[in-house]
Amino acid sequence: MTAEENNRSANFIRHIINEDLAQNKNEGHVHTRFPPEPNGYLHVGHAKSICLNFGLASEYKNGLCNLRFDDTNPDKEKVEYIDSIMDDIHWLGFDWGDRLFYASDYFEQLYDYAVHLIKEGKAYVDSLSAEKMREYRGTLKQPGRPSPDRNRSVEENLELFAGMRAGKFADGEYVLRAKIDMASPNINMRDPTIYRIRKTKHHRTGDNWYIYPMYDYTHCISDALEGITHSLCTLEFEDHRPLYDWFLDQLPVPCHPQQIEFARLNLNYTVTSKRKLNELVEVNHVNGWDDPRMPTIVGMRRRGYPPAAIRDFCERIGVTKNETVIDISVLENCVREELDRSTRRVMAVLNPLRVVVTNYPEDHTEMLEAPYHPNQEDLGSREVPFSRVLYIEQNDFMEDPPKKFFRLGPGREVRLRYAYFITCHDVIKDEATGEIIELRCTYDPETRGGNAPDGRKVKGTIHWVSAEYAFNAEVRLYDRLFTVPEPGRQDDWHKALNPDSVVTLTEAALEPGLRETKPEERFQFERIGYFCADRKDSLSGKPVFNRTVTLRDSWVKQKK
Ligand code: ATP
Ligand code: MG
Repeated sequence: MTAEENNRSANFIRHIINEDLAQNKNEGHVHTRFPPEPNGYLHVGHAKSICLNFGLASEYKNGLCNLRFDDTNPDKEKVEYIDSIMDDIHWLGFDWGDRLFYASDYFEQLYDYAVHLIKEGKAYVDSLSAEKMREYRGTLKQPGRPSPDRNRSVEENLELFAGMRAGKFADGEYVLRAKIDMASPNINMRDPTIYRIRKTKHHRTGDNWYIYPMYDYTHCISDALEGITHSLCTLEFEDHRPLYDWFLDQLPVPCHPQQIEFARLNLNYTVTSKRKLNELVEVNHVNGWDDPRMPTIVGMRRRGYPPAAIRDFCERIGVTKNETVIDISVLENCVREELDRSTRRVMAVLNPLRVVVTNYPEDHTEMLEAPYHPNQEDLGSREVPFSRVLYIEQNDFMEDPPKKFFRLGPGREVRLRYAYFITCHDVIKDEATGEIIELRCTYDPETRGGNAPDGRKVKGTIHWVSAEYAFNAEVRLYDRLFTVPEPGRQDDWHKALNPDSVVTLTEAALEPGLRETKPEERFQFERIGYFCADRKDSLSGKPVFNRTVTLRDSWVKQKK
């Protein structure tokens, strides 16, 4: 890595690693891991952790990053989640190669280490009920009290622990606790539980185990067994670090990784907790984990966010120790920038209004050259058919336009993008309802391609499609899921859901070439926004489009 690249966004973790490397700590190695619990789908917060862990590993020579499933809680975990997590990481552009691990692979070793702790007099089997244990634990102000079982003999502890493993006891009858310090000012150090009885089938180890290790105990040992050098986690684990270090100091583990905490990502106008996301799915506020309004990785993918935009976002927000809330417009702008560079422009009329070009010959069609991008020539161009009957956007016409409205109105001339100047001379209305159903216009044949040879200018350029050749497709306009910046902070957070977070249009008329759009292909619909063909609901020849993001941030205006 060059100094310049490293400076690009120096963060405190890169700084720590650089110091470690300078001192040849860990024999000059950098080895990180991403440790999800397979109890839900990954969200944008996890993307930050993935980019950080895999990103760091790729920046340093011979750097490695493991994917490790922290699967110690079989009640909540599912193979479905494991599969989706692996998909998400690959889609984001990262790869763990042959370094895929499961905490459950270490169950035997973890058990042996627990026996080691018992033999050393550093762990004991406790029969206090959960409720009593809470009571004995004390509070921030009050020290805890030792359990009556704290001084059980090593022999008895060994026998009971073996009995726990053998399934002799019921759930909750006993736990194994580390023997540390009931008076510690850090509550995590007051003899934390390290094993509990759960007679639940595990998705990988089946019925082999009646006891499961706790997170704090499992995590540090798994890190050490895998030779992790820097164990990066979110700030809420800062108070657990003494425990992380305590276990590793007591046990004959191969190495002692360094835990480093950073601030979790919080995004406004959404929620980023698996529990809340799960609730949104369970009560059908959204249509599943991959609903395009969800801040999950599968949701963002379905919405059309490019992985490069998410990586760029994670890089831009940086890594610090300060808890902040990032404005969702930062993410949306990363998406816009990436899409602006890379997507083809096409024409789609979302709410069609029929236009008849009265001086254009009937039964005639001409093909007009239309570039796919204003300045990326490598994206090429296509030909769009022009004929006598067209569709334009309903809101591109006003019968009685105010001064600053530069689009179409009676007697006004506008440019049809890549085509001709047209002038409106008649407005046809439904007799019963008064609704405008058709415009009659004339075109100027001299303006083919969109310029007048006499140098005459028009102020407005609008998009259009040929009614004869256009095809109809479902288009979904997605917007923010919540109307308040921090829904997660209020108890009735689901009341803050945006009722207009999705609007489904069924009348949209699209230029004919879009009929063959493949799932996940992205386009800019000129003057409207960026769209992506839905990866689930699109059929061959019948794409369904999701609005990824508008061209500009309309929420800024609303706030003002
Ligand atoms: P949640 O809080 O949504 O339930 P979690 O922390 O329980 O998430 P894990 O599967 O344990 O989910 O997370 C895997 C990794 O992702 C952990 O290292 C965790 O610290 C990190 N992570 C989770 N949420 C965020 C976030 N919002 N920002 C940054 N990293 C996160
Ligand atoms: Mg967690």
